[in-house]
Amino acid sequence: MSGFNFDVITLFPQAFELINNLGVITRAVDKNLIDLNLHDLREYGEGSYRQVDDKPYGGGAGMVLKPEPIYKAYESITKSPKSKTLLMTPQGKVLKQKDLVRWSSLDQIIIICGQYEGFDERIRYLADEEISIGDYVLSGGEIPAISIINGLTRLLPGTLGDPDSLINESHNSYLLEYPQYTRPQMFRGMEVPDVLMNGNHREIKLWREEQQIKRTYERRQDLIKDELSNNQNWEENINEE
Ligand code: SAH
Repeated sequence: MSGFNFDVITLFPQAFELINNLGVITRAVDKNLIDLNLHDLREYGEGSYRQVDDKPYGGGAGMVLKPEPIYKAYESITKSPKSKTLLMTPQGKVLKQKDLVRWSSLDQIIIICGQYEGFDERIRYLADEEISIGDYVLSGGEIPAISIINGLTRLLPGTLGDPDSLINESHNSYLLEYPQYTRPQMFRGMEVPDVLMNGNHREIKLWREEQQIKRTYERRQDLIKDELSNNQNWEENINEE
């Protein structure tokens, strides 16, 4: 049985060693749930220097990835029936949990990592989606790619020890997760809330729901606003029919 394929085009394949050292992923690789195929961009470089970048037309700072090596690397990849290509760029759509969930039903994700000042504009035509992992700029697409591989892999059946742990966690719904405690009951003067100690499951459930709402309201009102406006659109759509 072959698993979910991640194909990554990168100038720094060694950066992906990190993946094998992150518990969840190690388990997924061992169980053949995922295959990580690294495509070293340097191997597709031009001339005896294996050149992959060049100065930007029109001038300006730094170097830009050339289109030809990336197109060649891309064309060398065997495409699965349910495949999507993601381009890592701070100009892309900001990654959300719902994107990871959506992609988890595919069987292949191809990820193109940029470097230096970025890449030739024509590389964008290879991508189904352009993805940013946040409104800040990193030196390359490797850490964004690792974030996607890690977040998606833990959604695949058989990866997590306990699949139930996906249900209530933050960003699965628009509410953040409730506060969690484990032993000891009293730690340096900080106590576990009584309600969690009394074994009344109904009360515990209510307390957790309340905490989720409170937390989200205090920290991420934007999530609540988005949810409300989505529901409003939904109602408008129903009324139109
Ligand atoms: N000059 C470019 C940024 C280049 S950063 C610009 O202004 O758009 C170099 C590479 O790092 C990018 O091509 C991209 O692949 C990656 N990268 C940097 N920040 C990123 C982010 N927030 N999300 C996804 N990829 C990012």
